Amino acid sequence: MNPTSAARTRAGVGMTSQRTRRRLVRRLRERGIAHAAVLAAIENTPRHLFLDEALAHQAYDDTPLPIGRNQTISQPFVVARMTELALGGGLPVKKILEIGTGCGYQTAILSQLVDWVFTVERIDALHRAAKTLLPELGYRNVSYFNADGYQGWPSNQPFDAILVTAAPAATPPELLAQLAVGGRLVIPVGGRDLQHLRIFTRRAGGFDEQTLDAVRFVPMLDGRAR
Ligand code: SAH
Repeated sequence: MNPTSAARTRAGVGMTSQRTRRRLVRRLRERGIAHAAVLAAIENTPRHLFLDEALAHQAYDDTPLPIGRNQTISQPFVVARMTELALGGGLPVKKILEIGTGCGYQTAILSQLVDWVFTVERIDALHRAAKTLLPELGYRNVSYFNADGYQGWPSNQPFDAILVTAAPAATPPELLAQLAVGGRLVIPVGGRDLQHLRIFTRRAGGFDEQTLDAVRFVPMLDGRAR
């Protein structure tokens, strides 16, 4: 979405979206999301501005939606759940690494909850669109990288948390290596049709692992793309 169309949509949909966002937040609370700051971030974030105008009316349904290039904006429940998990370790999360910027919606949520977000996207067009849109909407504490997320972002490690929004078949060791001690990696791991959310917490001598909800993400792919 270019800045002009974002501004137009903001003017048009802005009046009703606050009310529909509140309804979405109620639904997330009913489904078990309890983290007050995460719910507040969702209530304050204009998800319709991350979508094509033709889909904006569906922005506050709790559903994933297409964002072009065969990719999707994650379902709000999944965004909330993963954010809650990423923030829920013992360590205060100052620096977070996100793999899979996509349209930048999850990035915008995270930027309201931590000091700095480092976000990596392999598709250049999506990387550029998010890098333009987020500052325009006022989210400024974000660094963007067009690269293969399997490598993480070595020059900015270690991270207090890492959140991955595309699914690899196995957990990339480079991401585990870039976690601070006490830090958490939240990642969907599995095949094309079904994955499970996994959490890895780095300890002095290794990693604690947990397997949680079944989820469905687009695959994590190798290499950069235009
Ligand atoms: N958080 C995003 C979800 C986008 S879908 C949102 O809310 O919009 C997942 C994204 O991960 C896609 O944009 C896809 O291009 C990206 N992706 C897939 N494999 C990747 C990789 N190896 N490195 C970086 N990004 C990747």
